[in-house]
Amino acid sequence: MFESIRRRLTLSYIGIFALILVLLGAVAVASFAHQTASQQDELLEQKAQGISDYVRGPLLRDYQAGRDPGGLNHRDKNGEPTGPFQVATDPDTGVVALVPGKAGDANGEEGTILDSSPSSSSLGLPFEEQARRVAESGGTVRETVEGPGGEKMRVVSVLVSGPGGESAVIQSAQPRRVVWEAVGNLILILVPVGLGGLLLAGMGGLYMSRRAMEPVRESFQRQRTFIADASHELKTPLALVRINAEVMKRSPTDPDNEEIVEDLLSEIDRMDTLLSDLLVLARLDAGKLEVENKPFDLATVAAETAGRFLKRASEEGVRLEVEVPDELPVHGDSQRTEQILAALLDNAARYTPKDGTITVSGRLPDGWAEVSVKDNGPGISPKHLPRIFDRFYRVEEARTRKGGGTGLGLSIARDLARAQGGELIARDSKSGANFMLRLPKHED
Ligand code: ADP
Repeated sequence: MFESIRRRLTLSYIGIFALILVLLGAVAVASFAHQTASQQDELLEQKAQGISDYVRGPLLRDYQAGRDPGGLNHRDKNGEPTGPFQVATDPDTGVVALVPGKAGDANGEEGTILDSSPSSSSLGLPFEEQARRVAESGGTVRETVEGPGGEKMRVVSVLVSGPGGESAVIQSAQPRRVVWEAVGNLILILVPVGLGGLLLAGMGGLYMSRRAMEPVRESFQRQRTFIADASHELKTPLALVRINAEVMKRSPTDPDNEEIVEDLLSEIDRMDTLLSDLLVLARLDAGKLEVENKPFDLATVAAETAGRFLKRASEEGVRLEVEVPDELPVHGDSQRTEQILAALLDNAARYTPKDGTITVSGRLPDGWAEVSVKDNGPGISPKHLPRIFDRFYRVEEARTRKGGGTGLGLSIARDLARAQGGELIARDSKSGANFMLRLPKHED
């Protein structure tokens, strides 16, 4: 059961992590694509602007003078074309300068190319229709159009005017694919990094869920043991009740029946006590037991509770000494505190032999008020001390002792002390048992 919960926990953890990664990745890729696309526009515009002086100067002048446009004339001594068009471009980028033809003019529609970079024609430059629009409306146009082979091309057209009022359009273009390739490269990096992150998250999730499940597993185990112990504790008196009832059934008029009825009643009382204790524990576990948090005097409660045991102590030949200060101001629940002290005094009275002494004392250390219940009975050996507050735990000899309790008294007492923000501590003492109840001091 715990394994499948753990697996489910880890899977949901990985799922949530993957979702976050995918969302973050999508945002990163989208903003990177947007940025790269803007950078492409910027680059194309720079390319166009970079040669605008050259177009405005020699090229337009030659064209104006009716000479062959510069692209053909401007060559070096080896006959190779010179000027920015030849050097400023890479194979992916093309630049062309043209005087566009006029729409509807059958002869001029083609326009005149002043100069172009080597790769321009393979990129589909010039895009006449766009050039005409720029020539008419002015400014700069950035568009994605269909190039050779249906490939998407990003084209930027810039209008430049020469000194004589004549104008030309510079067009620069680059395939959109360049942007998608950059985005693809980013995804190629992000995917393995993300998968690695998921793997690490999975391993971390398994480790964390194992740690998180440990207390759950332990508390589940405790609960199981508790239920098993509780059932066992109830079974014994029930079996006795059954046997006694069967004996009575066989001879209903037997005069010994009175003794059997006594036994029956005492077993019923025992079950009643056990069930009440179980109910308190269940309420404490569920946080449903009402525990007050009011100021009260612990000294008074300790003295009064001890007072109720005086008669029993003297009947059993045990001395009961109370040495509490005049005042021990605390905050908590006075009735629950009385219940705790009564459980401690009941145990002390039960385990202290004739002529023994039980001492109830109190003091006020920093921030706390303490009451100790000490006796000089057999005490609790260090071997049993760590488990003394466990539910149903009884030191072996105590199980057979007459009037032995349910084994729940101390664990209820400690839970009640904790519910008030205090603590109940059992001390190792050579001369008998020593329990100390500590509650938060009430400061005015
Ligand atoms: P019980 O109902 O059996 O007294 P408790 O939870 O009150 O259960 O106590 C648990 C066990 O602690 C007892 O069975 C007994 O062995 C031991 N114990 C408690 N108080 C004393 C004491 N004053 N002296 C010796 N042993 C004690």
